[in-house]
Amino acid sequence: MTFKKILVATAAAAGFAVAAGSAGAVEFITIGTGGVTGVYYPTGQSICRLVNKGKSSHGVRCSAESTGGSVYNINTIRAGELDMGVAQSDWQYHSYNGTSKFKDQGPYKELRAVFSVHAEPVSIVARNDSGIKTVADLKDKRVNIGNPGSGTEATWGVMWGAMGMQNSDLKLTAQMKSAETPSALCDNKIDAFFWLVGNPSALNKEAATTCDVTFANLEHPAIAKLIADNPFYRWATIPGGMYRGNPNDIKTFGVGATFVSSTRASDKTVYEVVKAVFSNFKQFQKMHPAFGNLKESEMIKDALSAPLHGGAVKYYKERGWM
Ligand code: GLU
Repeated sequence: MTFKKILVATAAAAGFAVAAGSAGAVEFITIGTGGVTGVYYPTGQSICRLVNKGKSSHGVRCSAESTGGSVYNINTIRAGELDMGVAQSDWQYHSYNGTSKFKDQGPYKELRAVFSVHAEPVSIVARNDSGIKTVADLKDKRVNIGNPGSGTEATWGVMWGAMGMQNSDLKLTAQMKSAETPSALCDNKIDAFFWLVGNPSALNKEAATTCDVTFANLEHPAIAKLIADNPFYRWATIPGGMYRGNPNDIKTFGVGATFVSSTRASDKTVYEVVKAVFSNFKQFQKMHPAFGNLKESEMIKDALSAPLHGGAVKYYKERGWM
């Protein structure tokens, strides 16, 4: 359950009268993430760990839950059942503007950006014996395209469609949760899985160390056009040697992972969350290898298309960054 509760703790329980907003008030916030072997989950966990370090002084208690990913997180924030979440920059853009997958729902003008995190290049991880070397080779293969609710599945639809393909051009369209894909691949139930994730991820590592895999190359005219036409896509590289059996750089494209909330979250809460991350930034960077190269100056503006949350702006101004 992810309903926000304002509890007037201890003193109320003991039967004392407590003035609203007194030092005893505790606010619970929940962050939506992704599968447990991805990078969203450790991102949410890391943010919460830093927030909870200061909970006795600011009263915000944070928990991060495993979810289906970007689209689920945005929709669930919109429904008021999550306070914050991690989401791909392409789906942040489309939700705010009411485009693409979010056309029927219309623009979500209350969506707010907080900061961006790591880059998320597409990984197409294929069995060596499948013969898949490039994205075009996925035709007529058994492919996991991402679970419903993931940013992965939504971006797959955009990319595969841009290449003039439909899911019926695959031999099998699988929609397992990300955490299930390495074993499905290594047990030869699928030929490849597609997803967008920060590197290194535990999941890609699990696949590459369990069986012999190739990371496919994403250079393709249709993808070059997607990048030229959309501000949230860019070319990206998965460095050679990051995963076993893949010594050369892999040319791919991707988006940014972003941290989002809505106008429903108070300035005070978002301010405390942002402050917990940026006043402990060195520690944050060490919490996951995908955070090693993050720069504060980029995180407060890159890959963000919804307006910044007021609580984030307050902190960034205090630091002299805006
Ligand atoms: N980008 C993925 C998605 O929204 C999740 C990646 C992760 O779990 O780190 O579906």
